[in-house]
Amino acid sequence: MNDYDSDKIADVLRASEGITLTDKPEDADIILFNTCSIREKAEEKVFSDLGRVRPLKLAKPDLIIGVGGCVASQEGASIFRRAPYVDVIFGPQTLHRLPELIAARRASGRMQMDISFPEIEKFDSLPAPQVAGGSAYVSIMEGCSKFCTFCVVPYTRGDEISRPLDDVMRDIRGLAAQGVGEITLLGQNVNAYAGDLEDGETADLAYLIRTIAAQEGIQRVRYMTSHPREMTPRLIELFGDTPKLANHLHLPVQCGSDRVLAAMQRGYTALEYKSIVRKIRALRPDISITSDFIVGFPGETESDFEATMKLIEDVQFDMSFSFLYSPRPGTPAAEMADEVSYETKMARLKRLKTRIDELENAYSEKMVGTVQRVAVEGISKKDERELAGRTDNNRVVNFAGPAELVGRFVEVKILAVSMHTLRGELAGAV
Ligand code: SAH
Ligand code: SF4
Repeated sequence: MNDYDSDKIADVLRASEGITLTDKPEDADIILFNTCSIREKAEEKVFSDLGRVRPLKLAKPDLIIGVGGCVASQEGASIFRRAPYVDVIFGPQTLHRLPELIAARRASGRMQMDISFPEIEKFDSLPAPQVAGGSAYVSIMEGCSKFCTFCVVPYTRGDEISRPLDDVMRDIRGLAAQGVGEITLLGQNVNAYAGDLEDGETADLAYLIRTIAAQEGIQRVRYMTSHPREMTPRLIELFGDTPKLANHLHLPVQCGSDRVLAAMQRGYTALEYKSIVRKIRALRPDISITSDFIVGFPGETESDFEATMKLIEDVQFDMSFSFLYSPRPGTPAAEMADEVSYETKMARLKRLKTRIDELENAYSEKMVGTVQRVAVEGISKKDERELAGRTDNNRVVNFAGPAELVGRFVEVKILAVSMHTLRGELAGAV
């Protein structure tokens, strides 16, 4: 989501001020930090990063320094107090107002801040998406109204709000015309999508995906992130009848203990989660299911943790992210009693990570020898003579091939697994 927002920030400033991106802070006229506050570590980083650019501002007083994203949204004016050389502060929903904020800063000489939630206005003010490769992200909804007790997102990004279906389709037709074959629909909880239709009705995510799959030029559709509570029968059905839907679903479960799930206010039990997975696998037996886990939620007992490990065995997740619980100011869980020691939590996290890595590896090994449909995303980061692409189940694969294939779908035979990437060879175009 933040990567996507960063691209939009660059689009907005390119359109308004003709800026180009630079990797060298010394060359920049504008330095912006797009921040994340999902966990404490991410949040602290911004202040050390700001300290590093401070000398540049002293050397070049016209330099504009800005802080955006969720830390800006949460901390607001206190950023100015800690770092008085900051010029503009903007939130995830006001990044489109950056040109005006920067102009006001230059005209008035005073710092500017806008961290409001002007709802859908942001989408209406963004320039049409431009992409280089064959794959693009399209944001379809913003914010979150779920209020899981550990999470800061509803406070920093505001309530769930969906873009009208016609607006989303306009972007997608534009992307398809530029040669984009793969679309990833983005949002905090994409499956809560409820987009207005022209006739006054509302489209759900299943309807949107069917509409996209019918669009000429589009070959593959994915979505992230989805919430188990809204994996509706209509969405599950799509795995059976829409081949363009990628063979991968990221469905964060967080943990396997019903007691902890209730304390988190996730709105499902481990059994309900497993039953969703069972229904999806009945339609797509080889689908890759990935998840997020939080270890060390306040009061997590040994048996709660064992329930999570059991869920991992029951579901056999492919690739997952796992995090140590991080108390976020203002969230209910931050007030909950927590007697479990840091060492115990770290030991649990390590055990969980080891197991999910083993499963990831086992799935990768099973892919060796198979031919995969790969969206070629660009030149390999490790070796300029190679291409990098993404398989249906979201793995990066490197293989030798001509640069003209970037943006296309090809068939790649998987030859070997190394760490988190695959190696392969071209087996033909799709
Ligand atoms: N909307 C998505 C998740 C968005 S946040 C969902 O509900 O599934 C991405 C991930 O960050 C979450 O799935 C969770 O695992 C992790 N996360 C969120 N808040 C956290 C916290 N306070 N401490 C540790 N991990 C957290
Ligand atoms: Fe955070 Fe996701 Fe829960 Fe929303 S649904 S509060 S984004 S974890």
